[in-house]
Amino acid sequence: MSTLWQQRDDRSWQSRLLPEDDVLEADDGLRFVRFKQGAQAGEAALLADLDTIVHVNGEPVLGGFRTLEHQDEILTAGRRFYYSAETAPVKTEFHLQGGGKPPSCPVCRRKLEEGQKAVQCPRCSRWLHEMPERLCWSYFPNCPICKHPTALTGEPVWRPEED
Ligand SMILES: [Zn+2]
Ligand SMILES: [Zn+2]
Repeated sequence: MSTLWQQRDDRSWQSRLLPEDDVLEADDGLRFVRFKQGAQAGEAALLADLDTIVHVNGEPVLGGFRTLEHQDEILTAGRRFYYSAETAPVKTEFHLQGGGKPPSCPVCRRKLEEGQKAVQCPRCSRWLHEMPERLCWSYFPNCPICKHPTALTGEPVWRPEED
């Protein structure tokens, strides 16, 4: 998952999760999508109505489509958004989905077992242990596979600066 930050009228920031394979309708004729499959898996894009004037990092979006990168700034009609490829990781219980072999943890190399406390990386989707005796996820400040931050504070790590 990833996060869309939208600036409120009082200039504070509100975050919304960008789910995979779904469309997030924002105001002002903007839609945000995140691809789950295909060549663009994991990437997000902005779709704009053709009569909507929108800029990403100061450049006009032509043809109503633009892929987004971490910390891109989106401006339209005086509204400001930021796209973040980060989202808050969540400690949960591992359960094998869809059959197949259980994955092995990239830190300790041991298999994930049913019901073990673990974290699924929000960016690369790998499972890492997060048990008292095996804190594989939080051992490093960033995911060893994709570098997503591992802080378990419940808050997205990156956020736009307050004005
Ligand atoms: Zn592990
Ligand atoms: Zn990762």
